[in-house]
Amino acid sequence: MEREEPNMLPNHKDPNAISPQKDFDAFSSSISHDLRMPLRVIQGYAQMTLEDYSGRNLDDRGQAFLKRIRDCAIRLDKLLEDLLAYTRLGSEGGRMEPIALDEFIDDICQDCMGTRFARIEVHHPLGRVWGHRALLFQVFSNLINNALKYVAPGVTPHVVIRSETHGSALRIWVEDNGIGIKPQNHQRIFEIFERLHHESKYPGSGLGLAIVRKAVESMKGEVGLVSDEGKGSRFWIELLQHDSLSSSVRKSIAVPQLIS
Ligand code: ADP
Repeated sequence: MEREEPNMLPNHKDPNAISPQKDFDAFSSSISHDLRMPLRVIQGYAQMTLEDYSGRNLDDRGQAFLKRIRDCAIRLDKLLEDLLAYTRLGSEGGRMEPIALDEFIDDICQDCMGTRFARIEVHHPLGRVWGHRALLFQVFSNLINNALKYVAPGVTPHVVIRSETHGSALRIWVEDNGIGIKPQNHQRIFEIFERLHHESKYPGSGLGLAIVRKAVESMKGEVGLVSDEGKGSRFWIELLQHDSLSSSVRKSIAVPQLIS
């Protein structure tokens, strides 16, 4: 005789049940406070000792060791920051909205350039997409920072940002004159902690492109690249174009909610 599945789950939620969100908040707060705080203390004391004791009680060897301690603490702190950004993706809340890319990307370029000697060329107008501001900010910051970073020694980075229509989508390209990536590594670099270079040559956490992929997928978009070793890289992301929708269609479309 067939037994009926017992209905184990009540259809109301127990307020005392542990929710995944609570679990996640505890994890984030543990990374922020319990792990990052002591690291900052290590970093701070190493720096203070270097400043106060160099040339007095601290010889060259001692200074070199302390610098290693400080730099490792800084590196681990950056890694934890990126890991936190990765796990937080999609949990910020907020809705997709139309984003005019011209000013948005100009501002990100300014931030990324900082005091670096480089050239960034933005081909206006870029257009408007449906996106989530915070996620899109991370996507372009990571792509542009990588384009500026992965150049051969002595080469001035030259980055070109442009867009083109692909049906109802807008494809935005971030192109560089850097070291390029062999085709067999094109999938791999989007995985978490996958890096193709040693820390001493090009520092990084191996999370930047994993963040890009996860963020773009959360916005129902796609990401890809065209590149080969020594030939520069051309990364692209594709998102739903805002202006491709007629106003009557636009009114009837529910703005896609970000998945968490
Ligand atoms: P990170 O830069 O922190 O190492 P990413 O996830 O952003 O991590 O990138 C993963 C790897 O992909 C990098 O270590 C690098 O080897 C390669 N890569 C990313 N962007 C570029 C680029 N524009 N040109 C060449 N290589 C790149």
